[in-house]
Amino acid sequence: MTTAAVHYPQPGQRVGLSPAPIPPRLLAAGHLADLATHLATFGAFDPRSISSTLLPELERSGLTGRGGAAFPAWRKLMATADADTSKRPVVIANGAEGEPASRKDAVLLRNAPHLVIDGILATAAAVGAHRCYLYAGRDGLEAVAAAIDERRAAGGGGAKEAARIQLLEAPDAFVSGEATAVVNAIERGLAVPRDHVAHLSTAGLAGGPTLLHNVETLAHIALIARYGSEWFRSAGTVDDPGTRLVTVSGDLAQTRVLEVPGGMPVDEILRLAGWDPDGLRAVLVGGYHGAWIAAEDLSVPMSRQGLAAHGASPGAGILVTLAKGRCGIAATAEIIDYLASQSAGQCGPCRFGLPALASTWRDLASGVPDPSVRTRLAGLAIAVNGRGACAHPDGTVRLSRSAARVFADDLEQHTEGHCLHAARRSAS
Ligand code: SF4
Repeated sequence: MTTAAVHYPQPGQRVGLSPAPIPPRLLAAGHLADLATHLATFGAFDPRSISSTLLPELERSGLTGRGGAAFPAWRKLMATADADTSKRPVVIANGAEGEPASRKDAVLLRNAPHLVIDGILATAAAVGAHRCYLYAGRDGLEAVAAAIDERRAAGGGGAKEAARIQLLEAPDAFVSGEATAVVNAIERGLAVPRDHVAHLSTAGLAGGPTLLHNVETLAHIALIARYGSEWFRSAGTVDDPGTRLVTVSGDLAQTRVLEVPGGMPVDEILRLAGWDPDGLRAVLVGGYHGAWIAAEDLSVPMSRQGLAAHGASPGAGILVTLAKGRCGIAATAEIIDYLASQSAGQCGPCRFGLPALASTWRDLASGVPDPSVRTRLAGLAIAVNGRGACAHPDGTVRLSRSAARVFADDLEQHTEGHCLHAARRSAS
């Protein structure tokens, strides 16, 4: 019964930019901004001038990480700056998008590389780092390399600082952007997660204090460093200040990246991306480690607080749409199959638990009758959740549980070997 159920962006596929509902911030300089346009749009910036004020400004701004974990940006910066060690801190900009449904970091790096560079240099000045890395897919790296060359050609102090940023290509694998995998990739050339026995802020790269931020977070930091926390808070809500980049994909003609104010309802974001929410059955919010939300609940704000009741979070700002008439079981089975294939193979829950979970969903999608499938799914979730060295098993369980909840009717039919959507699927 299974069909190719999920339409996430394919490698090399063109990604469109949708108009922002408010004046854009991160993408204010327009497409493919060069140094002159960047400076004309945002103004000149000396990272050393904000080294002592950045931390309190970040705390007042309420900026949280845009890579998925949503950790307060100022806390990471403070922990790295205060680390009790003789080693000098290191700054790492993480632009790896192993998540197939995310394109926002690549879009940001391509269109606003200078803003990300400013964010790296601002945080490096604030924590006293001499070494900086940018880790991202090839597309993004090329744009940043060209931007660094532009600065070098323009001369001045900023050119020397930007030239210190080392560029490293991230492999195209789901877990390659996990924080400890990034450190491993730089240290050993192997992008696999490691045990979270110590915080990166105190003992990260080569055992030294390491400030690792997502590239979008760094671009926001570059703007807060220029314009302050009040300006940042003038968009979004009290709970979810500022703007965020969102990638909308799925049953759409073209994947879109948009910059939206914090707390904007999910259905409004979908409309801006060109999709009528009435034509949807559900939306996967937060990416492959996220949770399905039923169409009738899509007026929920795209914020941590708003999505919590649905067991979801914005993650890296990801919405994957599932059109009416599509089978939620087939879509989920396809994603869990993919996630099981992306294990780094280091921990038991990943090596044995995820393949078992994937095979259960596959059988379910294929119409193998199994009245005990709910019990089996629940048992596997308990066996796997919280037992890996990283959050890969937990994220997969979150998706599995949300699918069993949101597609309860489908699940009921599939346990008896039927699919409510099979006729429509085979007709399409
Ligand atoms: S939980 Fe899975 S992905 Fe994470 S470190 Fe262990 S084997 Fe690797």
